[in-house]
Amino acid sequence: MLNIIIFGAPGSGKGTQSERLIERYNLHHISTGELLRGHISAKTELGQLADSYISKGQLIPDGLMIDILGDTIDREPAVKERGVILDGFPRTIPQAEALKKLMEDRGMKIDAVVGLEVPEEELIERLIKRGEQSGRSDDNLETILKRLEVYQKQTYPLRDFYEKEGIYKAIDGLGTVDEIFDRICKSL
Ligand code: AMP
Repeated sequence: MLNIIIFGAPGSGKGTQSERLIERYNLHHISTGELLRGHISAKTELGQLADSYISKGQLIPDGLMIDILGDTIDREPAVKERGVILDGFPRTIPQAEALKKLMEDRGMKIDAVVGLEVPEEELIERLIKRGEQSGRSDDNLETILKRLEVYQKQTYPLRDFYEKEGIYKAIDGLGTVDEIFDRICKSL
């Protein structure tokens, strides 16, 4: 059984590669972005709060995000039975530390962090293209640039965090979906 984090900047291909990995390894998928967008469409209280951050390209506060992740893991028996792929979490050092404890408390651990590495110019190009179709409130140029800045400052340091833990797998995120998927499978 595998527990994986798919890691990378916005537009690095986390969602696309997650779909492949779920199929190959029969994993349960948790995407915190998708979960929050579900709340926004359902117009829940959490959705309203989340939208006030997401539409500005900012991160939802750590305490709230950690509670949401803990609840999601506990509500879904498949996480323990089949293993999980976390997509969009953790995004900060406090989230990574909380995740470690959360997994330990449940007798689980993260086996690998698959880091999709893509140059910034390519990320911007991909996100602008996606914005033409996605209808996401955060896929416009201003918010894209903000999200990339937030990624560099708050999320990128996790690469070092997981390298020190010895579980970071650097993956060249340029190429076709199949080529990238092949690299990921080899690294696992
Ligand atoms: P994503 O679909 O992963 O790109 O997430 C979209 C947006 O949801 C992000 O830009 C954040 O505003 C919010 N979000 C998703 N996951 C997290 C997280 N782990 N911590 C804080 N904010 C998050």
